[in-house]
Amino acid sequence: MMKKTAMKKDMMYTIDLTRIDGDGAFPCPKCGTMISPDDESEEVYQIVETKVKNDELAGLILTCHKCGSTIKLVGFLSQPEN
Ligand SMILES: [Zn+2]
Repeated sequence: MMKKTAMKKDMMYTIDLTRIDGDGAFPCPKCGTMISPDDESEEVYQIVETKVKNDELAGLILTCHKCGSTIKLVGFLSQPEN
């Protein structure tokens, strides 16, 4: 099995939106900066990838500009399906 050595640079965090209350804003897991889906200025974060499934938003991958972390958002779909 692979050991976790020297792999911290490209750490990816996962946020499950179904566990977030309110408008969907959440603090960056690493630096605590509030990331709001309504903030489209790209000053705080930048969306790097959008996953669409059946014409619905299924997931997002974004980068926190403050600490450089990659954050994966899941749980957009209220009814998970394959
Ligand atoms: Zn951050």
